[in-house]
Amino acid sequence: MNTKKSKIICVTGGKGGTGKTLCAVNLAVMFKNEGNKVLLIDGDVENPNTYLLLNGSLEKKKDVPFFKPKIIESKCSKCGLCAQNCAPHALLHITDSFPIPILALCSGCQLCYKICPEEAIEADSKVIGWTYSTKVNGISLLIGELKPTEARSAAIVETLLGDFDEIIKDDPDRFDVVILDTSPGAHCDVEALINKADLVIPVTEPTRFGKLDLIRIIELIELLNKDHRVIVNRSSLLGFRDEFIKELKEKNIMILGDIPLDDDIVHSYCIGVPLMDGNSKTDKNGKGYKAFKRIFENLIEWMETKEQGERS
Ligand code: SF4
Ligand code: SF4
Repeated sequence: MNTKKSKIICVTGGKGGTGKTLCAVNLAVMFKNEGNKVLLIDGDVENPNTYLLLNGSLEKKKDVPFFKPKIIESKCSKCGLCAQNCAPHALLHITDSFPIPILALCSGCQLCYKICPEEAIEADSKVIGWTYSTKVNGISLLIGELKPTEARSAAIVETLLGDFDEIIKDDPDRFDVVILDTSPGAHCDVEALINKADLVIPVTEPTRFGKLDLIRIIELIELLNKDHRVIVNRSSLLGFRDEFIKELKEKNIMILGDIPLDDDIVHSYCIGVPLMDGNSKTDKNGKGYKAFKRIFENLIEWMETKEQGERS
């Protein structure tokens, strides 16, 4: 299938370790196999590993700078205005003392820098992480990585999305399909990626934890008014598949497909060649291969139905 305008598909999951990166990578591979130009954006910035599953490497490293206030004591009148107006209390001010920045709390809003009457705050910066861009086996990759000890993952995701906007600014048709891989959870950087998407695929597993986290992420997806369908990974786990799928259906949760436990999937993980890659020597009659095929067919059908709905 060749789409006219790039479709953005976000693969997410309320819980870590459900296999969303496995799904994101294999969907990207299947779109590429069909002749589409594919971009995969790895927004799981605390644990970016799409490139490992594709057997690629991190290339074209770019720093992500983040504002930090620098107090120029020779100019500071010790008035305390900056600290009084700093919402996250990232400036400690004691009467007749210079304010002390507590960088771990600083949101980078720059308010202190803008309102200081003495211009005693300089705009300094620190590196909070990196972005990388590369191409592996015909798939373009944009990857974000948060520096260990830093907490501002949303700023890395914002940079990734800004880089993406920049890439397509002069060439909106550069990619047919864009796959976004989020971090686990339902926090602000996940929200930013979901918000960018046309379709959202939460990946879950048939456990109580899986179900609770799935419901949480679906609440966020619905708040953002996005169309979504679920992949149930490791669906054959302890024989809970049918019961789990029945429960999801009772809650009117749409299911894109399910992937049973399969040694071929584990093997593909270990060797860093995606299951659906033409070079993977995967058994085409294997459970994992057939499950991904079915999911891809359902996804194409979903995309076509949505496209028709948008046209009419
Ligand atoms: S607002 Fe400016 S002058 Fe006042 S305490 Fe802060 S840095 Fe110093
Ligand atoms: S940049 Fe914003 S959050 Fe950081 S110290 Fe200044 S006012 Fe506070």
